[in-house]
Amino acid sequence: MKILTFDIGGTEIKYALCDESFTLTDKKSIPTNAHEGGKRIIERVVEIAKNIDGVDRIGISTAGQVDSIKGEIIFATDSIPGYTGTKIKEIVETATGIPTAVENDVNSAAIGEAIFGAAKGYSSFICLTYGTGIGGAVYLDGKLFTGNSFSAGEFGHIVTHANGKQCTCGGCGCYEVYASASALVNSVKNKLGISMNGREIFENFENPEIRSILDAWIDEIVIGIKGLVYIFNPELVVAGGGIMNETYITDEINARLQKELMPSFRNVKVVKALMGNDANKLGAAYLASER
Ligand SMILES: [Zn+2]
Repeated sequence: MKILTFDIGGTEIKYALCDESFTLTDKKSIPTNAHEGGKRIIERVVEIAKNIDGVDRIGISTAGQVDSIKGEIIFATDSIPGYTGTKIKEIVETATGIPTAVENDVNSAAIGEAIFGAAKGYSSFICLTYGTGIGGAVYLDGKLFTGNSFSAGEFGHIVTHANGKQCTCGGCGCYEVYASASALVNSVKNKLGISMNGREIFENFENPEIRSILDAWIDEIVIGIKGLVYIFNPELVVAGGGIMNETYITDEINARLQKELMPSFRNVKVVKALMGNDANKLGAAYLASER
């Protein structure tokens, strides 16, 4: 089976071919040009699909909240104008005649990790991705739990600080305002007056001021995970995002979490995601293969 799999993000559309053994080949990437709007993005997906011979299935992982049954965007922020309501599955299937699966990016990544990566062999886990915000996915009893309106796992907007700082969602005190990778970067900028990215912050790990900001940020991460562990009692917490490649962070999260949790919850482990940029494409390809 030849599967064409896409990962549509705010800045890039990545795509690759995938076979029965779920090996990705011919990996390519084009700019999303999000300002051109959601309709144009899907037109370009169709153009790519039409130019490749012998595709049996199409898998699409995309930013935004997705009705994975109808394959349409329920809601997307203004980062991709006019994307809300886009009937991706219908448009792509009508134009190409190829069966297509569409899923939200974090859910696709969770499937990728469940089948091929860090959560392989586990039946209940949660995923959190720490980047500009915090994305989440819930995988229970061997399958994705998507909630009443395909939106479960919006962990970035659980409130960890009553009357806290303003969030982009309109609320205040949300987890991602304090614990995302951007929150760490902002914290260094506000407290020390210097602009550093995540990698640069780690290069200055020995600096006591930076170390103290980093440690306070890890406490913020742990507050959120602790609450989620009490809700879901998962076997595993998969933490994604480039910053989680720093082993210091996952080691510290585990050590602090173990101290904080009630004994019956302490069998949970926090591990970094293993599939990196390929998780979304592999997850979408897997879902497409099941169609
Ligand atoms: Zn929020």
